[in-house]
Amino acid sequence: MATTQKTALVLGGGGFIGNAMISRLKSENYWVKAVDLKNPEFSQTEADEFVIGDLRNVATVENALLVTKAGTTNEAFDEIYQFAADMGGAGFVFTGEHDAEIMHNSATINLNVLEVLRQLNEKLGVNKTKIFYSGSACMYPEHNQLDPDNPNCVESSAYPANPDSEYGWEKLFSERLYFSYSRNYKIPVAVARYHNIYGPLGTWDGGREKAPAAICRKIAKLDVEGGAIEVWGDGLQTRSFLYIKDCIEATRRLMSSSFAGPVNIGSEEMVTINQLVEYVSVIANKKVNRNHKLDAPLGVRGRNSDNRLIEQELGWSPAWTLMAGLGETYAWINDQVRVLV
Ligand code: NAD
Repeated sequence: MATTQKTALVLGGGGFIGNAMISRLKSENYWVKAVDLKNPEFSQTEADEFVIGDLRNVATVENALLVTKAGTTNEAFDEIYQFAADMGGAGFVFTGEHDAEIMHNSATINLNVLEVLRQLNEKLGVNKTKIFYSGSACMYPEHNQLDPDNPNCVESSAYPANPDSEYGWEKLFSERLYFSYSRNYKIPVAVARYHNIYGPLGTWDGGREKAPAAICRKIAKLDVEGGAIEVWGDGLQTRSFLYIKDCIEATRRLMSSSFAGPVNIGSEEMVTINQLVEYVSVIANKKVNRNHKLDAPLGVRGRNSDNRLIEQELGWSPAWTLMAGLGETYAWINDQVRVLV
C-alpha cells in the first residue's frame, strides 16, 4: 500500500544548517519547500520548491506556510524547520554594531511564523504541523561561563537569565515564544539549543564565519610548510563544536520524539581555541605559529554542551570526533581557498 508522502517546510533553507536539513529530508522521501533571502552559497538545493523571500514580511510567510505540491490546495505542512535568523560569528554578534538588526530581524521572523501558523490552523480547522526552532547556547548566562575549565550549560541553568549578547537574548525570547504558542494554541513544538555547528558548506569567509572555519581558512592559506596566523584572544577560551551531520541527526530524532525540549544539541568534546589550531595544523600537516589579537570580539570565556538531558531523553550522543569532523571541513575549505587562488 502506498504511504502518503510527508511534507516539510525549511525556513532559512539557503543557510548552512537549513540546506543540510533539506538534503536529509529528501533522503527520507519528504516533499520539501524552502524559503530564504538567498540560494545556498556552495551547492544546489535539493528542495522540491525553493522560494526567494523575506520572512520579515507577513505575506511571504502566509505563502510559505501553504503546501504547494502538485495536487494540493490549502494544506498545512507536516513539519516546519525554522532556521532563518540573522547569524554570525563573534565578529558579527559581539561588536554591538548589529544588535538592533539582529533582534529586530530574528524576532520578527519568529513572531510572523508562529502567528501565521496559528491563523492558518484556525482557518483550516487543523493542528497537524509540528515546528522545530533552532535556539542557541548563546542564551546561557554569562556568569556560568567565566571559568574556561568548568562552564555550566545544563538546560536548567538558563535562569536567572544573563546572556552576553543581544543575539542570545533574542534566542531566549524566541524559544519562550515557541513554548507560549504551544501552551496556548496547542501547536506542537520542538526546541533545541545548538552549540557551535560546523562542517563543509558552512560560511568560511566574509566576517560571519565561526572559529573552526576561520582557523581552517587561515591555515589553508599558509604556504605548504606553514607560517603564522592571527588567533582571536589568548586562545585559552574553551568551546565545543558539533559536526553538521550529528546536528542533523539529533534534530531529526528530536522532531520524531514526543520530547519538546529545550535541549542542548552539541558536543561535550571541549577544547581551547589554541588546541583547535593545533588540531587543524596536524590535519593540514603545517607548522603553525599564533599571533594573538587580544582586542578581538570573543564571547564567553568557556562553553561546553551538557548532553545529559538529550542522552536521557533521546539516547543520542555525537558520532563524530572533533578531529574527524575537522578533517572533512579542512579538506573542503582548502579546496575553496585553492579555487580562489
Ligand atoms: P545561516 O546564516 O547559514 O542560515 C540562516 C539563513 O537564514 C540564511 O541563509 C539567511 O539568508 C536566512 N535568513 C535570514 N534572514 C532572513 C529573512 N528575513 N527571510 C528569509 N531568510 C532569512 O546560519 P546557520 O548556521 O545555518 O544557522 C541556522 C539557525 O541555527 C539559526 O537560527 C542560528 O541562529 C541557529 N544556530 C546556529 C548555530 C551554528 O553554530 N551554526 C549555533 C546556534 C544556533
